[in-house]
Amino acid sequence: MNKSILCSFLLIVIALSVNAIAPFDGALIALDAGHGGTETGARNETYQVAEKDVNLAVVFALQGKLRTAGAKVVLTREGDETISSRKERVQIAINKCQTFYQRKCDILVSVHHNSSSDPAHDGTLVIYNEKQDVPLAKALHDTLVPLTGQDEGYLNGGYGITVYNHLVSALTEAYYITNDTEAYNYKYGNRVDEEADAQFTGLANYFTNKSSGGGKGGGKPR
Ligand SMILES: [Zn+2]
Repeated sequence: MNKSILCSFLLIVIALSVNAIAPFDGALIALDAGHGGTETGARNETYQVAEKDVNLAVVFALQGKLRTAGAKVVLTREGDETISSRKERVQIAINKCQTFYQRKCDILVSVHHNSSSDPAHDGTLVIYNEKQDVPLAKALHDTLVPLTGQDEGYLNGGYGITVYNHLVSALTEAYYITNDTEAYNYKYGNRVDEEADAQFTGLANYFTNKSSGGGKGGGKPR
């Protein structure tokens, strides 16, 4: 077999196996762009960037990638509306999953970007609340950390959106929007797409592990 035939053959094998995994088949994912409206979240004054806009841009980019890959996606907000409480965000996600797909969302990811008084500070953090959230938090953490190269962990925050309704969820702070390099790259570079790719890969890993990790417990006594 010459080299180009071998290469073609390998590419077909890879394409088939990727297709066979299809991690997002049937997945129903709620994405929450943190803050909105009168609640701007963190701000970068140098580049006049509000966290609420960064969160929404990432959610839109991620939604596109997930839908292309076969996932069903609902968004808590699709514009600059103010949502009065975190509890309401979760309720909106649950209602949309129910209205559009007649079932509970599989997971909810709340997208945020962090804030520090030190404009040079950067790092990646993921927050979860319940034990059931750990695999999701870890999967997102592992693919988001390379964005900054500074690992601030995945932590049980005991606060935030993950508290309500036992919906499997995690809150991501992929980087600090108060960091001037980050704000510059958001505004003039391709930071939104880079993060959406990392979020996408983390979610793909989560659903792949979930379906192959024996979590279904086939045949086990109840
Ligand atoms: Zn925030």
